[in-house]
Amino acid sequence: MQSFKGRFEPTRFEDLTVTVDFHCHSACRFCIVQEGMNRYQGLSFARFVEAVDDNGRAPRYRRVTFTGGEVTLERRLFDYVTYARTHGGFEHVRLQTNGRRLADRAFAKRLIDAGIDEFFVSLHGPNAEVQDFIAQRPGAFDEAWRGLVNLRELGATILTNTVLCTLNVAHLSAIVERVAPLEPARMEWWNYLPMEDKADERGLIAPMATLAPALVRALDAAKAREVRCAVKYVPMCLLGAHAECVDNTQPDVVIVEEFYDLYPKFACLWEAKCEHAERCLGLTHEYVNRYGWERARLVPFPRTRPWEEPEDGLAYGSDEPHGEPRPAPSGDHPEWRALVDGVAEAHGATLAGVLLDRRRCTFRFVLGAARVDVVLTKRSDESPALARTRSFDVSYRDVRAPEGDPALRARLARLVEDAARSVDARDQGAMRLDERKGLVGDEALRRR
Ligand code: SF4
Repeated sequence: MQSFKGRFEPTRFEDLTVTVDFHCHSACRFCIVQEGMNRYQGLSFARFVEAVDDNGRAPRYRRVTFTGGEVTLERRLFDYVTYARTHGGFEHVRLQTNGRRLADRAFAKRLIDAGIDEFFVSLHGPNAEVQDFIAQRPGAFDEAWRGLVNLRELGATILTNTVLCTLNVAHLSAIVERVAPLEPARMEWWNYLPMEDKADERGLIAPMATLAPALVRALDAAKAREVRCAVKYVPMCLLGAHAECVDNTQPDVVIVEEFYDLYPKFACLWEAKCEHAERCLGLTHEYVNRYGWERARLVPFPRTRPWEEPEDGLAYGSDEPHGEPRPAPSGDHPEWRALVDGVAEAHGATLAGVLLDRRRCTFRFVLGAARVDVVLTKRSDESPALARTRSFDVSYRDVRAPEGDPALRARLARLVEDAARSVDARDQGAMRLDERKGLVGDEALRRR
């Protein structure tokens, strides 16, 4: 079993992100899909239609986000957006972009008119000198800035994204000063993740000795201007009063599968001692190799609950940073709830939550002091499973029952068996889950 920090897949329950294409007209020095630009394909329109129709039939995502590459270069972008708006039942349609094409006000307006209501725009420097050097394209900052001003004037929701690295760490507060007048809904600060340059030969990983105080100053500046912030991949204990800004969740992302093979792993020496160990990822292995464990700098928040290595990451119900982790939020998924309708009641238990994402549906049953998760995944005919129904493999996990109460365990076991029988009886074969995290095979790779 790999730990949460090792595997790193906390899911933000409400969001689906689709990678539409891998072309880009910038060449950011820290781009996490740079290598894949020449090799990967985005999600085909046909696969996208399947995912959207699925959400239209049984809504599980409130938001769809289009990303790339640079998604504004995609010829069929408006087809994707229009289909999402008309068939997906999404509350929000978001574009993740470098913002350069939004300098064309008519284009920005067309996107808004088509149904994009949130723009997540990369801004890695406060001026052309910093941003153009990072993007390796003269004019990149000016275009992005004009794009942001256009969005502001057109009344769209703006979020910004700044990747934290050695090239901009001295300019973080200046970015806040620049952006704050646009009244963004949120500024996000994502620490650089070395996806390809594992040895950091480019020197992009910023040491915490420099990064943390600079980020705290920027967060102070944002707070003073009432701009909300979210921070990813920075230790919570280094952010002082801003620790609660840390939100390491990610949406369910449809991207080429092997992207995740490159994803950094995280660790913290104090994991078992720290109250926030389930939410904070600590440091990337690459950071530790470069700068060490930061043994003296990281100060664990005293743990008040026993630590258990989580089998899965946490699942969150919102894309807003928040105070407490919320495992297994209960969604309104009547079609999925109906699969186990009446089971909890028949055993004197409660169905405490239904957690649905692209790959699995988890029913959490609570029976007195005990609990168990019954998990549906796509039918495989290969993986071990408690039962197989027309659409699903049924298994269970995370059994929590007090020691020394065999009767309660036996009741829990009967409940699980009954849940499996109930799913089997009600599953007509039309409900879909997809075990794959991303795209695989021919559809994932660019034809040469
Ligand atoms: S001690 Fe480790 S887990 Fe705790 S906040 Fe610091 S980096 Fe995160």
